[in-house]
Amino acid sequence: MLQRFIIFLLSFTLFTFDLENFVGKKTHASSILILPEKRPYMSNKYNFSLGTINDMILKEGGKTIGKILKQKIKKNETLSLFLERAGYQNKQINAIIAKIKSNHPSIQILRNIPTNHLINYSVPKNNLGFGINFKIGKYKDLYVWQDNLGKIETEITRRPFKEIKYLNKIEITDNLYNSSLRSKLPKKIFSELVKILGFSIDFQRELRKGDIFETLYSQKLDLITNEIIESNPIHYISAKLKDNHLKFYRFTNRYGEANFFDEDGKSSRKTLMKTPLNGARLSSGFGNRKHPILGFTKMHRGVDFAAPIGTPIFAAGDGIIEYSGWNGAYGKYIRIKHNNTFKTAYAHLSKIYKKRGMRIKQGDIIGALGSTGRSTGPHLHYEILLGGRQVNPLRIKLPSGKNIPNNEMANFHEQREIINSKIFAMQNNIKSKEFAFLKNLQKN
Ligand SMILES: [Zn+2]
Repeated sequence: MLQRFIIFLLSFTLFTFDLENFVGKKTHASSILILPEKRPYMSNKYNFSLGTINDMILKEGGKTIGKILKQKIKKNETLSLFLERAGYQNKQINAIIAKIKSNHPSIQILRNIPTNHLINYSVPKNNLGFGINFKIGKYKDLYVWQDNLGKIETEITRRPFKEIKYLNKIEITDNLYNSSLRSKLPKKIFSELVKILGFSIDFQRELRKGDIFETLYSQKLDLITNEIIESNPIHYISAKLKDNHLKFYRFTNRYGEANFFDEDGKSSRKTLMKTPLNGARLSSGFGNRKHPILGFTKMHRGVDFAAPIGTPIFAAGDGIIEYSGWNGAYGKYIRIKHNNTFKTAYAHLSKIYKKRGMRIKQGDIIGALGSTGRSTGPHLHYEILLGGRQVNPLRIKLPSGKNIPNNEMANFHEQREIINSKIFAMQNNIKSKEFAFLKNLQKN
């Protein structure tokens, strides 16, 4: 009998102590008879999210903390205001916020939780404690819970995701954009595709019905919600045009920088020549100068290269002739559109070899140096236009366009062949087992 009484006293003391710890007030006499339920203990630190806080607790073999509710953050609502709305007491709220801030001083989300952000939570109960969890960015979760001793614990975990590769095929029916919408290529991937191919293809003029674009890209799938978190990146693009087949592979170099290269390791980004002729000297730079003919100070929006009349002038980059002919003070003039960003212009020419609308390659001879228009002597006036405005050709940072260096070529070939194998398997619907078999066949 005495033994029993001692046990009763003992459990009473433990229970009261426990409750005081997490609600901070004395409990009712009626609840003394109920033994405390097992609360989340969570001795393990989890790296990966497991869904709601209850999923975490169940993994530990604990008793769940009641029903998990889901609610969205309202406009201008902070986590504190949200918890108040959800039925938390001020004392609990202050303790929770203080704990999150001290455990994770660098997380930004508490400062500005987006409207409609989903919060999973349980309403605090004396015997069960509470639990809260929500996403931070795309890849992480924040868990906050009260452990079996009433202490507030927090943990940031990574959400599990899976990367899936897709091979998208666009067949041109009208324009590239509409055709890509029909092929269900994600918009983000489409705009990346345009950027990569923009140096090589003029989308307005060069595309024909029946041209085919193939894009190998990845999507990341959140394994908890089954939602697509991100469409990224492109691994490969092929553009099969009427008389041009372009292929670009993504390659990550030893410094971790990723760029696109053709099969031979040449960059998809084509740079512009800063000096589009040989054997010239710079005779006048970019900027304010006293104009040699007009006599007053005028902004010089290009650079002048002095050289003998007839010196061949090269196209500074691949592109399409946008203007070809007499152009006032510029005299005989050519302007090339290289892509949506860059144009180059060549003035005072003596001869013009290319007509408007012609497609030209970097280094093609487009005209000959002269002194036509408002010119004091034989020279080329050269302009680079960025978004329609002249910029200093000698200062501007042009797209790097670096090719793969020899010492990275083997690595590039390997990455290229992995991509080629993947595409081959996807095009032919080869499952992984059969594919391994085929690979072995090739070896023998
Ligand atoms: Zn000039």
